[in-house]
Amino acid sequence: MERGMQNKETNDRLPLVIGVDLGGTQIRTAVLHGSTLLSRVGILTGENPMPDHIIPRIYSAIDEALHQAGITIQQIAGIGIAAPGPLDYKTGIIYAPPNLPGWDRVPLRDLFTEHYHIPIFVENDANSAGLGEYMFGAGRGCTDIVYMTISTGIGGGVIINGKILAGASGTAAELGHMTIDWHGERCKCGNIGCLEYIASGTSIARRANEAIRSGEGIELLAFARTMLEHSSTVANQSALPTQGHDANTAELDSSPPEQGDMDTSDQHQQEHLHVNARTVALAAEAGVPLARAIIQTVAEAIGVGLVNIIHCFSPQMIILGGGVTQMGPMLMEPALRVVQERAMKVPRDAVQIVQAQLGENVGLVGAGALIYYHSNMYGIVP
Ligand SMILES: [Zn+2]
Repeated sequence: MERGMQNKETNDRLPLVIGVDLGGTQIRTAVLHGSTLLSRVGILTGENPMPDHIIPRIYSAIDEALHQAGITIQQIAGIGIAAPGPLDYKTGIIYAPPNLPGWDRVPLRDLFTEHYHIPIFVENDANSAGLGEYMFGAGRGCTDIVYMTISTGIGGGVIINGKILAGASGTAAELGHMTIDWHGERCKCGNIGCLEYIASGTSIARRANEAIRSGEGIELLAFARTMLEHSSTVANQSALPTQGHDANTAELDSSPPEQGDMDTSDQHQQEHLHVNARTVALAAEAGVPLARAIIQTVAEAIGVGLVNIIHCFSPQMIILGGGVTQMGPMLMEPALRVVQERAMKVPRDAVQIVQAQLGENVGLVGAGALIYYHSNMYGIVP
């Protein structure tokens, strides 16, 4: 209660900003007052994601968000844009992100500056989400935090002594691409045995489907079929609330496989029914041994990743976001056991490992927070 009121008073002293969360399938814009959304307008990137086509649509979405909030652009202190990397936050140029085809060396900051004539800041989406949690979420009051989001992929943001860690190339804090298994398999980034390759939502689904294809997953397949038959009920009682923004954190895929797969023979189903991470999580909760084993492996890999983070950064707080981290004790207990058993005592005793607080709006709040961060307004946020 007291913390909420403090936050409200803080918000009252902050200027209005606009946040843009640029994802591969969806782009969201909002007018924000601190962490409070005054309006929110989203567009789907659709079939034509080319910048010439999308950028004017982002302007329209921003104008609509301003209109809905009853605010004019003259009242806005700046626009923060969270975008998938690689990008250069100093120049605001985006370099060919894998999930934005056709975007190659797009000078996003300069384009927006020419259009709006107010301060524009562009930042890697995981960094800005970390900034959002640091300023307005779980990390309030800390100086050194690590944010890690585990969903379709694994992203990270590291804030040390109040500053986003960018590194020499601006690409620091790729926590998903730390090596966990140096004899492991090749990740799409080029490295071997990355945390993302082993422990993302995509990895959970891949492990399950590989097991099913090799004939080990009969019980899991039966569970998935039962779930499909009751898919509307399951969707309403989801055990995995989704969280985060869709660039590197796209929610666990909750859509059931195509119904057509269900109309065919058992053999055909076995070949084509695609089990997603959410189904594996629910199956693990229900006690299906294969699903439990998959979640156990993933949890231990995340634990090893946490040990590495603790040893490299000794943060006050590690903030975990994204759909996979919503699995609760069956994931977190084995992960934290690894931390307890392996991490050095001094930095381990100094760290708190907590869940993210901003939920699905973390991308927008983090984007808006870029304006406060670059205007050195952090000092007035408790
Ligand atoms: Zn990798």
